Formats: sequence, structure tokens, C-alpha cells
Amino acid sequence: MKANEWMNRTEESILHTYQRFPVVLQRGEGAYLYDTDGKKYLDFTAGIAVCALGYNDPEYNQALKDQVDTLLHTSNLFYHEPLAEAGRKLAAASGMSKVFFTNSGTEAIEGALKAAKKYAYTKSGHADWEIVAMEHSFHGRSVGALSVTGTAHYREPFEPLMGGVRFAAFNDLESVKAQITDKTCAVIVEPIQGEGGIYPASQEFLEGLRRLCDEKDILLIFDEIQCGMGRTGKYFAWQWYGVQPDIMTCAKALGSGVPVGAFVLNERAAAASLAPGDHGTTYGGNPFVCAAVSKVFDLYEKRGLLAHVQELTPYLEEKLDTLVEKYGCVAKRRGKGFMQGLVLEGRPVGEVVSKAIDNGLLVISAGGNVLRLVPPLIITKEHIDEMATILEKALAE
Ligand SMILES: *Cc1c(COP(=O)(O)O)cnc(C)c1O
Repeated sequence: MKANEWMNRTEESILHTYQRFPVVLQRGEGAYLYDTDGKKYLDFTAGIAVCALGYNDPEYNQALKDQVDTLLHTSNLFYHEPLAEAGRKLAAASGMSKVFFTNSGTEAIEGALKAAKKYAYTKSGHADWEIVAMEHSFHGRSVGALSVTGTAHYREPFEPLMGGVRFAAFNDLESVKAQITDKTCAVIVEPIQGEGGIYPASQEFLEGLRRLCDEKDILLIFDEIQCGMGRTGKYFAWQWYGVQPDIMTCAKALGSGVPVGAFVLNERAAAASLAPGDHGTTYGGNPFVCAAVSKVFDLYEKRGLLAHVQELTPYLEEKLDTLVEKYGCVAKRRGKGFMQGLVLEGRPVGEVVSKAIDNGLLVISAGGNVLRLVPPLIITKEHIDEMATILEKALAE
């Protein structure tokens, strides 16, 4: 069947909630994807910061195949080996205490919000607690996650959402202070805002939030769903800042392609929040996804992927900075590690993205006018060179 026919067949049955690019992807190999016509694309999207190990990795694939042949699903009413292993490795990577596995990022946020509310409830003996979230944040599409997402047009059609959410300006500690009340139980923030346009938090902001939360016994929640799992060259972006959260959410690259998320609690939050009966999931953390998570951690370690990202980051940044110097429509670069954004001015980002895709480079946008680069973590210098060449072409056209 031709690509066009696959697109038409898709639109016939699949609810139209995405404006998809006119590409029918079929298979992947390393940092490359191939469409149904056999056209090759260098992938700087990683399925939105998911496929950290790239595509068709033999060791990762084998671990998944072995688990398929052993045990797929058990429910959370029983113990299984992959759960113990995945939990141990995520707790170790974060230096935190307890993990709850979910099926997605948005569910990790739901769990984090419930844990924060339960913590305050346990402490005070009453409910009705509030959350402070950031403008231009993105935390997901389920009702709780949407309630703390700082983009009004995502929220409006679905109101009333979860009550008791106040928004503050990102990187503005005074603005957060102004939103804190006697009822605030948690502050939720992305250490690097992703969908909002690749905005790294400042050192002072995260340090200030930590101090503020400690003073008032408020839980600090870091959403590491996009910026975590090695994307910036450490397992979690907050590890660069030396500012620890009480609760962290994780997903996207956690399974490098299988749907899995998690919320992770420190000792204090774990000891006084969710208890048996408070939270659950049928699929979450099943043997299949946990085998993937466990293998992802093994392969990061075995291949030194964090060091690889750190080593290659200056080269990636230098290449992107060259584009900023050379093209008037590229106003600036923002980001950290392999989570980079080029801010476009006077030129629609969608047009540049389409031209890049035509020329064999997959990139996406963020926050309206930002070209987002979130490649698989396995890319090499040669991939960066190839990306820069194609992107130049797209910008020059
Ligand atoms: C993608 C994302 C989410 C939502 O994750 P889903 O798996 O799409 O539900 C939440 N927070 C951040 C920072 C994200 O990038």
C-alpha cells in the first residue's frame, strides 16, 4: 500500500487529535528511521525524548523478547523479579527512596499530586490542600495533570478542572512566594521546561524553591519526564543543580520505547503519604515494562551514556550556535545536554520543521516558535554534523 493510502486509512478510524506530518514510519536502525517508501531520516526527536537508545538495539530488543517469552503481566497483587530490579535501579539512579511505576507521564503526575495531598492530609488531619504550578509548564493531558499545566488554551475547554491550583512565573521566586498560602501542600516545576519552549530553571530559582518549601513543610515536586533519564548528561536534570526534590516524576526515556512512567519519593514523602489502598494501577510496572526499564539502566551504565552526552554536548552546542550566528531568523539557542531549542524569529517554526523533514531530518517544535532537538542519546559527532548540514539547508531555503 502507498503512504497516502496508509494516511487515509489512519484518518478514517483514528480520532483526529494530532496534525501529523505526512510521513509513514516503518522501521528504525540506530539514529535513523525509514518510511514506507524506504526514505531515510536522521532522527532528532527520539519519539519526543523517548527512544534514548535509538532504534533496533540488539541487546535491548533481546531483553524484551526474553521477557515476552517468560512473563508479560501479573497485576500488582503479586511480586515479580523485574519489578524489584527496575525499582532498585531507579531508586539508586535518583538517590531517592520509593518508586511507583505508571503507564505514562501524565499518570506519574497524577500519582505525585495524590502523594503530595496525602502527605499534607496525614500531617494535618484535614483535606482541601492547594498546589502551586508554573506558567508555560506542561505536565500532561489527564485532568489532574492538565490542572497544573500552565497553558490556558489546553485547560479551558475542560474546566472546571481540579481546584486549588495557583500559577506562578517560572524562574521568578517572588512570584512563587506570592502564590503560597497556608493551604499550599506542594510546588511542581520542570527543572527544564520542555513543551513550553526549552527553558532551563536558574540555579537561584531551584535553590530558592527548596528553601521556601523547607521553611513551610511544602513538598517540592520536580517533573523530570522530559529532561530526565540522561537527556542532560546526568540521570536527572536536578542533579546538575544539587537541589533535591521530595517527589520526582519520570517517564519518556525511562523505558526507551515501552510505555512506562514512575513517581519517586524521598524518605520523608514516602513515610507519610500513599499507603495500601490509596493508589493503584492494573498494568503499571508489569514484568514487560520493568524488564525494559531494568535493561535501559544496564545499557546506560555499560555504554557510559551519561558521559557520552556530557562529552558531545559542547560539540552540539557549538554547531547550533553557528546557526544562530549565521541565520537572522535563529534568534538564540537554549537548553542543556541533548535537550536543545533554537528560538526562531520572523519565520514560522512549522515551515522550518517541514523543510527539515523533506530533507531527511526529523525535528519538532516546542512553545510556538522553538525548534526542538531531543535526539537519541546514542548519536555521534557524525550525526551532529549531518543534522547541522540538513538544518542549514532547511533554514537557507
Ligand atoms: C511528555 C510530558 C508529560 C506527559 O507525559 P505523557 O507520557 O505524554 O502522559 C508530562 N510532563 C512533561 C515534562 C512532559 O514532557
